[in-house]
Amino acid sequence: MLLRHTSAEPVERTGLMINPAKTCQPIGAMYAALGLHGCLPHSHGSQGCCAYHRSALTRHYREPVMAATSSFTEGASVFGGQANLLQAIDNIFTVYEPDIIAVHTTCLSETIGDDLNQIAIKARDEGKIPEGKFVIHASTPSYVGSHVTGFANMVQGMVKAFSESTGKKNETLNIIPGYVEPSDMEEVKRMAGLMGLKTIVFPDTSNVLNAPQTGKFRMYPKGGVTIAEMKATGDSKATIALGPLASDLAARKLDAQCKVPCHTQELPIGLQATDRFVDTLRKVGGVSVPESIAVERGKLLDVMTDMQAWFYQKRVALFGDPDSLVSLVEFLVALDMHPVHVVTGTPGKAFEQKIRDLTAHLPVPVNVKAHGDLFLLHQWIKKEPVDLLMGNTYGKYMARDEDLPFVRFGFPIFDRVGHSYFPTVGYMGGIRLMEKILDALLDRKDRDSPEESFELVI
Ligand code: SF4
Repeated sequence: MLLRHTSAEPVERTGLMINPAKTCQPIGAMYAALGLHGCLPHSHGSQGCCAYHRSALTRHYREPVMAATSSFTEGASVFGGQANLLQAIDNIFTVYEPDIIAVHTTCLSETIGDDLNQIAIKARDEGKIPEGKFVIHASTPSYVGSHVTGFANMVQGMVKAFSESTGKKNETLNIIPGYVEPSDMEEVKRMAGLMGLKTIVFPDTSNVLNAPQTGKFRMYPKGGVTIAEMKATGDSKATIALGPLASDLAARKLDAQCKVPCHTQELPIGLQATDRFVDTLRKVGGVSVPESIAVERGKLLDVMTDMQAWFYQKRVALFGDPDSLVSLVEFLVALDMHPVHVVTGTPGKAFEQKIRDLTAHLPVPVNVKAHGDLFLLHQWIKKEPVDLLMGNTYGKYMARDEDLPFVRFGFPIFDRVGHSYFPTVGYMGGIRLMEKILDALLDRKDRDSPEESFELVI
């Protein structure tokens, strides 16, 4: 691979990104829209954008991801895409019969300046949106932000379009799970259920992007938050937003729109972040923590202590999304590991400060960069080697070049399965994460051990 020619000395770059550690905004918007039951995502731009977004999600989830496009050609690119979108809305409701069309913009339609709100109103006025059906929308230009901000914008669009207040609050809690796997959304619901809480999780891609094989194709799988549930979010007691970047925007919008107080916190990855999540459920829900949750926590602690010697002072390089990296770094530090190089492609200085705060007491220097790229991470690794690399599938080139144990974590993962089915959030997810890390480290130890220290029991 050409990567092995990467130089070890970083040079200040401002106008060039090499192998970005992020994908584009509409991918996140499309992912969020798939968590709405009966929704067809729609990409307002050229066919190429939509094909890329669909294929990225299809390859990651190994499920057919359906989405429509405004199919811009030269005319729409010059004069705007209103006519294309109006025609598309008409065609989609006639042919594919979704309950909702969730439109997101692309670089091209944003540059032209298309006004989705005005086009949606026009579509309604012209009778192109049947009674009881909806067109929601989000602005997702990909020359700013990343797939995580695209997700955040579409979830905010869901709140804007549906959440209503009847003036009477109930005991239900809203949970915005963040940019996580369908399996993680399931796990968050399961934990809240164990605590006896009634919740509305939105968006919810469980049973959509990890749906069972039934032998029958369903254009709109069984899962996803329903329109009725989305409307009811305005009457809930409170909202817990997991992952500030992905979820805070929608939680605040819901507070402003329907006066539902919000509690935003980091993703519940690892011991401490999960403790905080459980504590928030306890306080906000007014319940006590059941024995079943305490047992799961105890199991996580048990593995942490049993295997501590293998984690101790291992140097780790990580890349991925800000919300998940912050919690993951906190977990690795709790395991006595040293996360020494941390890169996200998503812009935002708050991320760098959070990582610095979490690692301030480590006895080693830590490199951290927001809006960085994999080229920079590779340079850091060459200069100051690590014992483990964690990140999405694109890390495999670096892992091969540097002969590093590699744990796949984040989005996208194109070359392994499991992420859609087994969570990494919560106490049980923490055990799975440790298992993956230990497998990578101990497989490497077995591979490299000389005959006399090749052990059966470790
Ligand atoms: S970065 Fe922009 S042009 Fe490229 S696929 Fe994403 S939305 Fe389309």
